[in-house]
Amino acid sequence: MLPGSVMRKNAIMDFDWLREQRSGLGTAAVIVMDQSTDVVKAIWRLAKFYKHESCGQCTPCREGTGWMMRVMDRLVKGDADPEEIDMLLDVSKQVEGHTICALGDAAAWPIQGLIRHFRGDIEARIEHKRKPRSRFAAE
Ligand code: SF4
Repeated sequence: MLPGSVMRKNAIMDFDWLREQRSGLGTAAVIVMDQSTDVVKAIWRLAKFYKHESCGQCTPCREGTGWMMRVMDRLVKGDADPEEIDMLLDVSKQVEGHTICALGDAAAWPIQGLIRHFRGDIEARIEHKRKPRSRFAAE
């Protein structure tokens, strides 16, 4: 996953160039999203997919994909605590590289990319959801 500012430049489908951007080619399947895409929702949907696809054979994937999906459920609604962003990143790193097949890595990387490049969007969503509550609390 690349941030929008990088994608607006000419992104090169090249292993080394993408690695320099802290991204990767993966399976070389490309999903094109325009500027109107809700990127948090897009990654939430991927998390849901990987949770569904996990065969449950190894613990980091079986438990991790469920855990990541539940946190993404809260993040996409803005219902999470800001501290959960780093917790989610930690969990994704416990899944990455600790599973039998590549599904664990595939589940962890979009979430890591989201946090790396779009943390501000996640925080803004949480802040937006909290604002009315704090305003009413002050009244
Ligand atoms: S990493 Fe692969 S083998 Fe392990 S639970 Fe996930 S899908 Fe199954």
